[in-house]
Amino acid sequence: MTREYEMDPEVAADIALRNRTMRERRHAAETPAWQPQPIVAQWPCRAAGCTNAVEVTPDALERLDVFNRELKRRNEEPLDTNKIAICSDCQAKRWAMLANRNRDRVEKLAAAIRELRGGAMHPQPPGPAPNRAREVVLMRDIIALGHPDPDGLFKAIADARNAGGGRKARGAL
Ligand SMILES: [Zn+2]
Repeated sequence: MTREYEMDPEVAADIALRNRTMRERRHAAETPAWQPQPIVAQWPCRAAGCTNAVEVTPDALERLDVFNRELKRRNEEPLDTNKIAICSDCQAKRWAMLANRNRDRVEKLAAAIRELRGGAMHPQPPGPAPNRAREVVLMRDIIALGHPDPDGLFKAIADARNAGGGRKARGAL
């Protein structure tokens, strides 16, 4: 799909205003009925290589207007409407990619924790600690991969290892 038309910004703003007034009247009349918003413009999808157009509602135009006024206040360029919209296909692909990335991250994190625990899985007592240099690398990885409580994790492993090691030492004697 290509861009079929682009509405004059003043016309679009007028439609947005009229639409808002209509919505306010509906609210005033306490009519709960939901109305689909009219499409007042089409912007190209910003994803590289995608030729889809994204339908633009009056609400989106209003938000753009708010953003642009703020940008103008800061002496910055207004947003380029060729670079802000994303079509539903590309959005779905992005979510899938983010989900994959997140799964990778979780797997890497689990592998690093397992190695730091000396190969033992939770809740078994940890195995022997990796050598100090490797331990430092793993701890750094665990922090970088976004573990929510690395200090708590490191302490729990150390505590479990001390307790387990104590038992083992006693058993060996
Ligand atoms: Zn797209």
